[in-house]
Amino acid sequence: MNAALINRIAELRKLLNDYSYHYYVLDAPIVTDSEYDRLFKELQQLEEEHPDLITPDSPTQRVGEKAATQFKQVRHTIPMLSLDNAFTEDDVINFDRRIHERLGSDLPIEYVCEPKIDGLAVSLVYTDGILTQAATRGDGITGEDILQNVRTIQSIPLKLRSAHPPKIFEVRGEIYLPLVEFNKLNAEAAKKGEKGFVNPRNAAAGSLRQLDARITAKRSLSSFCYAAGEVKGFAMPDNHFAYLAKIKELGFRVNPNIEVVKGVEGCFAYYKKMMQLRPKLGYEIDGVVYKVNDLQLQRRLGFISRAPRWALAHKFAAAEEMTKLLNIEFQVGRTGALTPVARLEPVFVGGATVSNATLHNIDEVWRKDLRVGDTVIIRRAGDVIPEVVGVAMQFRPPHTKLIALPKHCPVCGSEIVKAEDEVIARCSGGLYCSAQRKESIKHFASRLAMDIIGLGDKLVEQLVDNNVVHNVADLYTLKTADLINLERMGEKSATKLIAAIEKSKSTTLSRFIYALGIREVGEATALSLALHFLDLKKLMHASFEELQNINDIGPVVAMHITTFFRQKHNCELITRLLDAGITWPKPETKQLPLTGQTYVLTGTLTSMTREEAKEKLQALGAKTSETVSKNTTYVVVGANPGSKLTKAEKLQVKIIDEQKLVTLLKTIKNE
Ligand code: NAD
Repeated sequence: MNAALINRIAELRKLLNDYSYHYYVLDAPIVTDSEYDRLFKELQQLEEEHPDLITPDSPTQRVGEKAATQFKQVRHTIPMLSLDNAFTEDDVINFDRRIHERLGSDLPIEYVCEPKIDGLAVSLVYTDGILTQAATRGDGITGEDILQNVRTIQSIPLKLRSAHPPKIFEVRGEIYLPLVEFNKLNAEAAKKGEKGFVNPRNAAAGSLRQLDARITAKRSLSSFCYAAGEVKGFAMPDNHFAYLAKIKELGFRVNPNIEVVKGVEGCFAYYKKMMQLRPKLGYEIDGVVYKVNDLQLQRRLGFISRAPRWALAHKFAAAEEMTKLLNIEFQVGRTGALTPVARLEPVFVGGATVSNATLHNIDEVWRKDLRVGDTVIIRRAGDVIPEVVGVAMQFRPPHTKLIALPKHCPVCGSEIVKAEDEVIARCSGGLYCSAQRKESIKHFASRLAMDIIGLGDKLVEQLVDNNVVHNVADLYTLKTADLINLERMGEKSATKLIAAIEKSKSTTLSRFIYALGIREVGEATALSLALHFLDLKKLMHASFEELQNINDIGPVVAMHITTFFRQKHNCELITRLLDAGITWPKPETKQLPLTGQTYVLTGTLTSMTREEAKEKLQALGAKTSETVSKNTTYVVVGANPGSKLTKAEKLQVKIIDEQKLVTLLKTIKNE
């Protein structure tokens, strides 16, 4: 026998066992699932080619891991199995073919398609209708007793909704952590300087496997049920879909996106549909599951060692991958804020190639202990921007160095300052720093500020690098001749840009205030300032105290505003802008109809963009915000809403749809 092959098999088994232990027992994986799946597949293939080398303790022959010792052990009457995985359409076609062969039939199979919830499996046993046992899957034979913890989960009934409950009724399902809760948990961890959980699955597992059920209770776990275990005194329906309807009646939460389809084509259509729905679900799914609907056919197909033959998990492209951290560079923003950015060996993750990821601030780099040369875990779920979740420590090369905060700005060489109590380090160069100048011009020209169409980021960079423009006031002295020599700029586009700059001169006071780029003065604050002062001069001379009397303006923002207007160069710039001809109509003074109300928008609107809706609401005096809180008046929900909807439901904030918003806007206008 080939010694290299035997060694590789032994090595794969050791690695997989080690990774499984960290994943299942410690709830702290040290490699990504995709890496685990690759090694698993390699082992499976080697064993298929050399069946004589299969041992019963091989990771391919068993489910999960032995239960951890701190919990009481529970023996499953019927083993809790795993699922076979498919990564390609061919894998699914082969699965369907094998089923046809086993059943000796050519007819298309009816499959129940379900989202594959990325949580952890649980078995719930009801004796005479009362929840008497709850256990993890463990190694499939023996799990851990987590009854006290499971009892804290609202969506799991403590009692079946039935006047004549079965003697024994075991239901299986998945416990998961909604994304809002996961983000909250990790934000709290970050505040305490802790690492946080790698992903929602681990957070769910960590939250559930707590010896103190009070901790579990705080985590707002949820559940979906999808399978039967042992039943006594209950007549199982003929098919799986009917079973799901039955357990829903009995009080279990069943996923609303479950469908019955015919054949593999139906499965593929469902897969595509769920992939699109995935970012909007509010919880993680890592694929979909196809199950033969007919329970009699399921029984005929039976099981292999670790999975049923009648079900298959069709996985999505991994949301987490590992790659090399090539460098950490620092970018300088509009206010001088230094943002570390990870330069990565390009990696395909969550459906896109990622080669950069923002690291937000230096504290995050230190908290995650990132070092150049490390193998890092990159996460990109849905449309969310890619994130470096942590380091795979076992791959750290020797002699890596801690990342230091640069002493000097990488762009202008000015000193970098970081206040003790601030997480952000800043370049002290101000408008001397070309990076800050570029960013302030980009901000000034942006859509919600002066809205200079055609003045994109690349163009601003060229204008500053070529010393054509030093500050925002210079934009208004530009001539076509200054532009035509720039890259990708012909006479026609130069003329167009000059016209757009000219057009931007007639604006609104709130846009102008926002365009100045005062720290922490966003569009909503700019609007409050405009409505309060009605006049730029008054704002420029406002005292710290007066500013704080305005709704929503606290001492920090008030300090930023007064500091800004105290700078001679800022006042000179404003004079130049006004001399160039920037004007606005006097803002409406009367109390506006929606003053005091706050709106949050989520999902896609059809009759207007979200920005347009916001502007309309703001024009009527409402505030708009990106976060739902108890102070939100309404959450406006468009198509495919995000997690804001879940949060609104949780906080019981009033929800309206687009139609209602349109009616509201119309009614107010006609009044
Ligand atoms: P699995 O997650 O691939 O699939 C089986 C599980 O899916 C079931 O046990 C159940 O809990 C769950 N599930 C979710 N929705 C379901 C539905 N609608 N119907 C039925 N089941 C549903 O298999 P597994 O055995 O739980 O875990 C193996 C996987 O875990 C690997 O593929 C790997 O991705 C990951 N893993 C990772 C590491 C690591 O170090 N990163 C280590 C071990 C395992």
